[in-house]
Amino acid sequence: MKLRDIINTDKITLSFEVFPPKSDTDYHAVEEAACNVAALNPSYMSVTYGAGGSTRGNTVKIAAKLQQSNGVTSLAHLTCVGASKASIHTALDDMKEAGIENVLALRGDIPKDYDGEIFTDYKHASDLVADIKDYGDFCVGGACYPEGHPDAATKKEDILNLKTKVDAGCEFLTTQMFFDNNIYYNFLYRIREAGITVPVIPGIMPITRATQVKNAVKLSGCNVPERFRNIVDRFGGNPDAMKQAGIIYATDQIIDLIANGVKNIHVYSMNKPDIAEGIQKNLSEILKLSI
Ligand code: FAD
Repeated sequence: MKLRDIINTDKITLSFEVFPPKSDTDYHAVEEAACNVAALNPSYMSVTYGAGGSTRGNTVKIAAKLQQSNGVTSLAHLTCVGASKASIHTALDDMKEAGIENVLALRGDIPKDYDGEIFTDYKHASDLVADIKDYGDFCVGGACYPEGHPDAATKKEDILNLKTKVDAGCEFLTTQMFFDNNIYYNFLYRIREAGITVPVIPGIMPITRATQVKNAVKLSGCNVPERFRNIVDRFGGNPDAMKQAGIIYATDQIIDLIANGVKNIHVYSMNKPDIAEGIQKNLSEILKLSI
């Protein structure tokens, strides 16, 4: 099923993200965790792509498994940094063969040892979006950054580049994590003003371990509000209490988003079925509602 047919209805959607194993030795444990998340029957699930294509085969394998065994539509991530057109087309052929119809088209992070040759056939995610749309019958999405992408000189420039990506054929956007919903609302206002009209799915990251905060900030450069810092200060030393507080904080963000008319929510619950389940249970009545 195409993602556009899931997200463009009046139903509230809740989706979860998983990451594939880096090595084949971990494959079965990761597959089991991903299937346990899928057993919650989310609206769809996304499967990340290891930097530089390091998980390529496993991304497709897990995404296909979720569809075949659990009947959950999957969205496979694909990055193009350092990739040739031929290798991207092979990846798309593999997806097609596995019944995957949805791709999140990404540039990927530029490796630290960048030697100037990293941009091969694609420079930006917009080039990949255009190529995928040209190549096959896929529903294509992209990433966006409510606090601005770290490489962008200004937020204004980032939004202009985002418009290029959407004009290239991107049918929806998923946001980088944020911990203050006002940042999302403000971003939405600015991109709508810039003429970007596709659904912008907020990506919510439940922080359930104190150590995750540092990584999240390092990875995304996102702002951590004082209210959240206080939670980590108070509960960070107690894993069970921190987990509970993290699930509730994420739930609270989601409830506020839905109360403000947002209807598609994506949760970076990664390979943690208990966290995905905790959030889903907290929203059990709300998820029955339509907009
Ligand atoms: P782009 O859209 O190409 O943007 C990157 C930068 O280039 C921005 O600063 C933008 O303003 C600029 N730019 C874009 N187009 C132009 C243009 N035409 N001219 C000039 N400048 C331009 N990484 C992974 O490795 N695997 C994953 O599975 C993965 N999943 C992700 C999922 C989400 C929802 C998000 C938000 C990020 C994900 N990432 C993933 C990280 C992502 O690959 C990095 O953030 C990467 O640095 C940028 O990718 P992009 O697709 O947003 O790039």
